Amino acid sequence: MVPLPAGPSDPLGRVSRVDAEALLAGLNPDQRDAVTTEAAPLCILAGAGSGKTRVLTRRIAHRVATGSAEPHRVLALTFTRKAAGELRGRLAALGLRDGVAAGTFHGIALAQLRSRWLERGETEPQLLDRKYALVARNIARRPGRREVNPLDAVAEIEWAKARRIAPRDYADEALHHNRRPPLPAAEMAGVYERYEQEKARRGLVDFDDLLVRCERALVTDPQFAATQRWRFRHLFVDEFQDVNPLQYALLRAWLGDRGDLCVVGDPRQAIYAWNGADASYLDHFARHFPGGEVHELRDNYRSTPQILAVANAVIGDREAGLPLRPNRPAGEPPTVVPFADDADEARGIARAIRDAHGPGRPWSDQAVLARTNAQAALIADALGRAAIPHRVRGGASLTAQPEVKQALARLRRARVPFDVALADLDAEVSGRFPEETDEAGATGDDDPAAGADGQGAARRDDEGRQAEQRRANLAALVQLGRDYRGLDPAASGAGFVQWLQAAARAEDAGGAGDAVEVATFHAAKGLEWPIVHVAGVEAGLVPIGHARTSEAEAEERRLFYVALTRAERVLRLSWAAERTFGSRRSRRQPSPYLADVQAVLGAFAERRRPTDGLAEVRRERRRLAATDGTGHRGRGARSPASLTADDRAVLDALKAWRLEQARAAKVPADVVFPDTTLEAVARSRPADVAALLALPGVGTVKANRYGETLLGVVARYAEG
Ligand code: ATP
Ligand code: MG
Repeated sequence: MVPLPAGPSDPLGRVSRVDAEALLAGLNPDQRDAVTTEAAPLCILAGAGSGKTRVLTRRIAHRVATGSAEPHRVLALTFTRKAAGELRGRLAALGLRDGVAAGTFHGIALAQLRSRWLERGETEPQLLDRKYALVARNIARRPGRREVNPLDAVAEIEWAKARRIAPRDYADEALHHNRRPPLPAAEMAGVYERYEQEKARRGLVDFDDLLVRCERALVTDPQFAATQRWRFRHLFVDEFQDVNPLQYALLRAWLGDRGDLCVVGDPRQAIYAWNGADASYLDHFARHFPGGEVHELRDNYRSTPQILAVANAVIGDREAGLPLRPNRPAGEPPTVVPFADDADEARGIARAIRDAHGPGRPWSDQAVLARTNAQAALIADALGRAAIPHRVRGGASLTAQPEVKQALARLRRARVPFDVALADLDAEVSGRFPEETDEAGATGDDDPAAGADGQGAARRDDEGRQAEQRRANLAALVQLGRDYRGLDPAASGAGFVQWLQAAARAEDAGGAGDAVEVATFHAAKGLEWPIVHVAGVEAGLVPIGHARTSEAEAEERRLFYVALTRAERVLRLSWAAERTFGSRRSRRQPSPYLADVQAVLGAFAERRRPTDGLAEVRRERRRLAATDGTGHRGRGARSPASLTADDRAVLDALKAWRLEQARAAKVPADVVFPDTTLEAVARSRPADVAALLALPGVGTVKANRYGETLLGVVARYAEG
């Protein structure tokens, strides 16, 4: 951010009038309008990187500078502590060092409740920061049926509370919202009810109760409401698309009958619906806040036109809103790089990071983004091995997950050698959960509960998101255990725990220093880096395997869009043709979303002028509609002059793949395959090794060495 002259401030922290003008510097006319308008309530609706957060912070500073708001009466709300910290940093850069309160809904609610408890001489209730144990004891044993994991029930209770659904209404609402509770809905409602009763009996409150109680107190106690509303008069919310009904109710209670509210958000980045968030508060702002005004921003200042074209293509016209309009100079087209397996991918990313690092190009210019915490942990591990300073951002770290903690405790206590204990854990992870979703949709035949009549797939559906996440976390732990075992000849459970702790400390230590950021897509929201590596762009991860409803799938696409729009200059996507989950190797296919990416990259390869990305997507869809949906797969050879846009897109992917192979083997690219062979592959799209062997320049040695991953690159185009 461009530092602005902070200017002298009066005792209230107000900056002088002269600075009000300076606060409008570096804003386009729409942004200026959004900063200066007197409209209230005000909603700023705009795409990624269009300056929403910039406008929000400038608006706060500008109102303070012009005297229309007192800094001590400003409340800026966000959804995570990290985001609140970022906001504070940006406000400080504008000269508002203290005074303005920036915090999360939970943080502010707790502070207000504390002062209320104190004033009324009430003892503070104990805060229950983990629901797990209390929920677990309320789940009845189910003889003959699959055990319920309490974490699934916890997630369900949190969803219900976010939606303000009482236990008695849970069953109806769960049905209405297409939930897949881990227990029959009526039983789930019982678990929820007993959890609430026991919590009340023991005088405990959980995090959601803080919001519930604060809202209740504001609505029922006029004195308390008056005090809080006197304290905070000007309310601002960033990322408003992620507000849930409970937070919304609290916001309304804070506001009372006043209208001094400004929210900013982007419906295309709504990624917490699974958690109970509801973007319709943003979409229908004027309906929720009659008399409110909506301002839109269309210009993106973050990313190159090439990156925006890809992002626009991925979101397409599926969501309301206009494509992002670029303002930065042209850059290099994003790349899609396939790797033979996940270890190769992690090493490849480490290599690319090192190549891009240099004088004037600090580590902190780069980030690696992944869909799951488990992937992030493995990538962090690979960066550690490559001696690349890094830190893992946001989300709970792998070792903070309850199932990982439990597994670590068992490893530490185990009376058998570490190898054996790790192998046991591995077997358990591989056998306990159903097979990872793969392109063929096959279930593991080692799962005794899987029926022969497709019930396995139905039950797998029911297992849901948390089960898959837990399995992935444990599988990642097993893999880290193997890494550790390779380093410590006297490997033990206790040694493993220490090793993990040391790694975590190293990550923390990187906090202030120059380091590559490793984050999940969710944790990357709102942030930006010059160079972004998006890892694991595979079916089963992007979108995640459990996203089976159209709503869940749409949310996954938005999540991928969030990841893509974090990049400023360079965007590098990768996927692995094989991935290890515990001891199981799973064949992978590229993400179906890559079809839209490749359509745009194909256009770049033809050296057409970069467009907003939508034209290519529409053309690609028309092409697929006009064919049998399988593109040109299996056609006979055509003349060299007839490389189509699609062929070129395949050729580009093949060349990127060849480059990785060549680098890994430290040989010139054309030793892997000459251009003529790759062109022949791009044209004829062989479906199997036999077809590959029929092409010029491919012998059995090369077919054995490269066939599988090369066919993986080609296979994506068979999906249509
Ligand atoms: P997101 O949706 O990802 O949260 P956002 O809309 O909040 O994005 P910002 O983070 O505020 O966008 O801005 C994106 C980047 O563009 C930042 O680096 C910001 O400083 C820069 N920026 C915003 N507006 C302008 C402008 N008018 N001129 C130059 N740079 C700008
Ligand atoms: Mg933002």
